[in-house]
This record gives sequence, structure tokens and C-alpha cells, in this order.
Amino acid sequence: MLPKYKRVIIKLSGEALAGDAGFGIDPATIQNICLSIKEAKNLGVEIAIVVGGGNIWRGRNGEGMDRATADYMGMLATVINALALQDALENMGVDVRVQTAIEMKEVAEPYIRRRAIRHLEKGRIVIFASGTGNPYFSTDTTAALRAAEIDAEVILSAKKVDAVYDSDPNINPDAKKFTKLSYIDVLNKGLKVMDSTAISLCMDNSIRISVFGLHDPNNIVKVLCGENIGTIVEE
Ligand code: UDP
Repeated sequence: MLPKYKRVIIKLSGEALAGDAGFGIDPATIQNICLSIKEAKNLGVEIAIVVGGGNIWRGRNGEGMDRATADYMGMLATVINALALQDALENMGVDVRVQTAIEMKEVAEPYIRRRAIRHLEKGRIVIFASGTGNPYFSTDTTAALRAAEIDAEVILSAKKVDAVYDSDPNINPDAKKFTKLSYIDVLNKGLKVMDSTAISLCMDNSIRISVFGLHDPNNIVKVLCGENIGTIVEE
């Protein structure tokens, strides 16, 4: 199968790594995700990953805490997830580098845009950790920012639900599924695709977002080969 894209960002939420437990890191779940990422890479696609941290800590969990401190804790959580992904991919023989937006050079490379692009050109997977490095942002916004910086054509947003709906399909059996949406629709309707900062950044830079479910890890390869699953958000 021929891939539809040359360079992509895969956004993995922290939750995606947690398996059924809903928190922490489930090695079997990570293994499955990494196997399909490896398969996707073998199609010849350049892949960068932005990983979240919600399976460990989110800034908004820190009730009563200083918000910036709680957000830094969230950013550190993404580093833990990034190292787990790096380890699983390396065990499968995949070349991978973690770059962090908060410098911790004993643990990973600092984020250097041109170096990240060089890794991708050499066929390595790059995992972006620590979000943007700034409190008050999210890893969704990080995915949009890094996609713009490295000139990725699409953000693959792998979620627990299989697409974008007008209401929660787990609660409302009549929830309407969208196959295609514009950025402005997402913002106006307040749909939970990504937060509004991330959507705006994608809109301003014409970065397509492909939302699909990770219940079938093969979906990553399917989307890369142009199969119409889930929801596409674009102009
Ligand atoms: N975070 C931040 N700045 C960033 C990215 C993330 O402060 O640029 C913090 C924020 O507290 C967030 C947490 O890190 O709640 C974990 O990221 P996120 O909630 O996006 O993870 P996900 O929901 O994708 O698992």
C-alpha cells in the first residue's frame, strides 16, 4: 500500500497508553501501539509523536495548587510516557529519539527544530516530550505547533472514540457522527476534537487533523494509506 502522507505527527493522549486501567502505563497497550507505529514507519512515512500525560497527571488535577506548578507536573508526566514509548520502539528495532521542550539532557535531547527534521529525514521516529515547555498549554496545542514547525501534512489524533460526534456516543445512542468538519465548525459548535488554541493554530496554518479510534491499532496504517475512517478536520 502506498502512503498518502510523507510527514505526519501522531498525537497520542496519555490515556491511550493506560489500557483498561485508565491510569498509568500498560506495557501490553504500549506494545500494540508501537507495533502499528513501526508498521506505519515501514510504509516510508516520516513520523513524529507528541505524547500527552493525562494518564499520570493533568494540570487541572491540581485543585488549589498554583496552576503553573501543576502544569509543569503535567509536562514531566509526558516525559515519563515518552521514555516508555522510546523503550518499546527501540525493543522492536526502531530508531527513535526523544526531544524535550524542558531541558533535561541526561534523559533526552533538547528540542531543536532542525535536528528533529534531520532525524526524520534519516528515518528515525522523533518523540516530542514536555509539551510546548510552557504552562497554560496542552499537548494538543503542542501537536499543532510542532506540525507547523516541521511542516507535517496532518495530525493523526488517535482517540478512545472512533470519530468526532455532536455529543458523547457513550451516553447518547443518537449522537451524530461527523466524517468531515471545518475548523470553524469545530470552534463554533464547541466540538471536542482538540482545544480551541490547537484548532486555531491548525486553522491558521492549514494543518489537517484526522481523528480516529485507537481501539484498532491498525487504524494508524489505514489512515496513512488514505482510508476514510473517523473524522477529517480541514478548511
Ligand atoms: N502541559 C502544559 N503545557 C504544554 C503541554 C502540557 O502545561 O505545552 C501540561 C498540562 O498541565 C496538561 C498536562 O501537561 O494537562 C498533560 O498534557 P495533556 O493534558 O495535553 O495530556 P493528554 O490529555 O493528551 O493525555
